[in-house]
Amino acid sequence: MSDINMEEIVSWAKRRGFVFPSSEIYGGFASVYDFGPLGVELINNLKKLWWKNVVWERGDVEGLDGAIFTHPKIWEASGHVESFTDPLVDCKSCKKRLRADRLLEDKIGVEKVAGRSLAELGQMIQDEEIACPHCGMLDWTEVRDFNLLVECSIGVTEEDKRNFYLRGETCQTIFVNFENVLQSTRQKLPFGIAQIGKAFRNEITTKNFIWRVREFEQMEMQYFCHSSLADKKYDYWKKESWQWLVDVLGIDRDNLRWRQHERDELAHYARDAWDVEYNAPWGWAEFWGQHNRQDWDLKRHGMYSGKEILYYDQKTDEKYIPFVVETSLGVTRLALVVILDAYTIEEVENEKGKKEERVVLKFDKKVAPIKVAILPLMKKDNLLDVSSEIYDNLKKKFVCQHDVTQSIGKRYRRQDEIGTPYCVTVDFDSLEDGQVTIRERDGMEQKRIKIDDLEGYLRDNLG
Ligand code: ATP
Repeated sequence: MSDINMEEIVSWAKRRGFVFPSSEIYGGFASVYDFGPLGVELINNLKKLWWKNVVWERGDVEGLDGAIFTHPKIWEASGHVESFTDPLVDCKSCKKRLRADRLLEDKIGVEKVAGRSLAELGQMIQDEEIACPHCGMLDWTEVRDFNLLVECSIGVTEEDKRNFYLRGETCQTIFVNFENVLQSTRQKLPFGIAQIGKAFRNEITTKNFIWRVREFEQMEMQYFCHSSLADKKYDYWKKESWQWLVDVLGIDRDNLRWRQHERDELAHYARDAWDVEYNAPWGWAEFWGQHNRQDWDLKRHGMYSGKEILYYDQKTDEKYIPFVVETSLGVTRLALVVILDAYTIEEVENEKGKKEERVVLKFDKKVAPIKVAILPLMKKDNLLDVSSEIYDNLKKKFVCQHDVTQSIGKRYRRQDEIGTPYCVTVDFDSLEDGQVTIRERDGMEQKRIKIDDLEGYLRDNLG
């Protein structure tokens, strides 16, 4: 378990413009968050890097952006109306509703809880004498199932109104568009469809900041193939996912692990499922699910729509329902993984030689929200003229900030705290020799470089 203090992360994220509680001026909206100016840069970088890896750099994966409003039948066919449930228990004393499995997991660990029936969970809560975390009483109702789909209504008049679901996972819009994509792109199996978009879940346990929220984004890719290829493709995508996290995002591999789902823990559609887990401050936690969904989804949509979804293989003259290998990654959770992994507190010497704490976000350069900060040593016109010119040029090529107020030491610390890889300082010598100081975030090394060479230097070093 990492020893980062989550309260510190929540306060840093708000102070530095990464994540804000949603609707805050109206008292907030439980378990919904807004991404601030730097948060949006961070998640855009993550999404772009994933899309590049999964779509642009390959020839066998197409993109899609499906709607959030979806036909109710989709969720009947997918099994979510029937099976997308969490086991809930109410505290009779304070009336708080909680997830029975999470209450137990916190005390005895996920392995002993996975796959238990509702009655077993209820009994275990009694046996373990788990008290309500809100009021301290041990007075629970029986454990019941509760559906996670978020229901909405649409229509102009009362009579016209009909209920529908906001999508609970993005992949269902991929399945219902399988034939459209196949026909419009002329792909042949095996091939995949990728999508980044919002999903909504009526989560009850909503803790650990943005880890479990009611509105979140997913990056999902469904890879369609013949059943005989599914296991091989499954292993392939597992390896790809791991490599992307470690090699591209630079996440510390010691903070990552795989966990296979127990047989009785598997989702209704899955033949095999592995999660990538992160060593979070509250324990190992899932943020990327890899599932072998077999032909469950296409078969069910075929049944419910009355139009069988089949693939015809001209080479083998075979008609079949493709199997699906899925990788399903939460953007919101990934953002927190990247933040937790980068968040570092170091002891350093300040300009006066005194020891002080430095908070530095050691983001991979590709992930960092701001790539370069341009800082005039002082807020003097002649320095500002030069720094503004540098900023005006560089901002067309890199995401930059021009930060002109406060002492230079404080500005360096501020950039460290938001993970900016390079600071460029314009001082009085710059006016004479046309050079600036470039400071690197992690080692804090500084060197002089010609203004004319800055762009090339940054291009080479930012990748
Ligand atoms: P959990 O067991 O934590 O509820 P899950 O197994 O239901 O997650 P999946 O349905 O496999 O999750 O969803 C795939 C990914 O979507 C998860 O790995 C996670 O990154 C993300 N995700 C799911 N639910 C949430 C949520 N409530 N908030 C943020 N991200 C989520």
